[in-house]
Amino acid sequence: MSVFAQRCKQAQGVMQAGGIDWLFIPHSTDLRYLIGYSHRQSERLALFLLPATGPPRFILPSFEEPVLQPYADFFKLIGWEEQENPVERVRVEVGGGAGKTIACGDDLHAVMVLDLQAAMPEAKFLPGRQVLSQLRMVKDLQEQSALQTASRITDLALSALLEEQFTDWSELEIRSFLHRELLRNGCESVGTGIVASGPNSASPHHRTGGRIVQPGDALVIDFGGAFEGYRSDMTRTFFIGEPPEEFINVYEIVREAQTQAVRAVGPGVMAETIDQVARGYITSQGYGPNFLHRTGHGIGLDGHEHPYIVEGNKTVLQSGMTFSVEPGIYLPGKFGVRLEDILQVTDDGAESLNKFPLELMSL
Ligand code: ZN
Ligand code: ZN
Ligand code: ZN
Repeated sequence: MSVFAQRCKQAQGVMQAGGIDWLFIPHSTDLRYLIGYSHRQSERLALFLLPATGPPRFILPSFEEPVLQPYADFFKLIGWEEQENPVERVRVEVGGGAGKTIACGDDLHAVMVLDLQAAMPEAKFLPGRQVLSQLRMVKDLQEQSALQTASRITDLALSALLEEQFTDWSELEIRSFLHRELLRNGCESVGTGIVASGPNSASPHHRTGGRIVQPGDALVIDFGGAFEGYRSDMTRTFFIGEPPEEFINVYEIVREAQTQAVRAVGPGVMAETIDQVARGYITSQGYGPNFLHRTGHGIGLDGHEHPYIVEGNKTVLQSGMTFSVEPGIYLPGKFGVRLEDILQVTDDGAESLNKFPLELMSL
């Protein structure tokens, strides 16, 4: 059985245990996870239908069937013609909505969900993550290997930047350079990427712009790409010129918080514990209110996915889970510091997939 048929079988196990009759998945990373292929969602309905038992099927525009054919060795393709109403085909395929519980992929366009609900008013609809997040959180060996490669390429790209005289480039130029390096070294796509200089670095989600980096700036660089669909995400903070004492102090607090949180990672630990460790240390140093966001997020086919490393998340970490640990301290009008590595939970602890040093570097 292929890895994809196997994943669908596992999803069916979750559905049976949860009393879910159907899982509806559009083009999305969920689809790529389940069948090995996905494209962009459009206004034409293309929906993978997984029943709790029995063979899956894929309802799609009939002219797209040839594209899906190579993947369709364990499910049936059902093409619809342009003049047809595909939602009606779905309704017929699932045998009407009465008494059915249907989980819809989290990325399914709202307009499609509304159409499906209108066609099957007696059905109960649930979010698809109730079926898929627990499966997607734990990566198999092939997924782990792709994640490792994506992180290695990210390390390389940042090292390449440091060989350039980039201290008079704009934020956008720095980001373009890093993205080009990711693609040159094997990534097939790049993320949004944040390059935040000077006071801009105090905003965790600064929108990278034309500001020229200058002496006296903190420089937060947060970027990543995808390798075989699996994402990387790393943040380092540099200082241009001789860093003042306050910056050094804040940097070392973030570094210590990151180190302590990483040390706390291991199988059997709750996700929220990792957040508590990082936040507890930063709070003990007086900067609690300046740590503006959760400590991390899962990573895989999506840049942000379960498990979220946040207070209240009681998810118990397991070997094979991958997520970021990225504490930060942000001082409005002055500077911000964030340090982010991707961690993989192992049988007895964790391994950082990023090897780029965490020590303070002034440029
Ligand atoms: Zn973020
Ligand atoms: Zn990041
Ligand atoms: Zn991140």
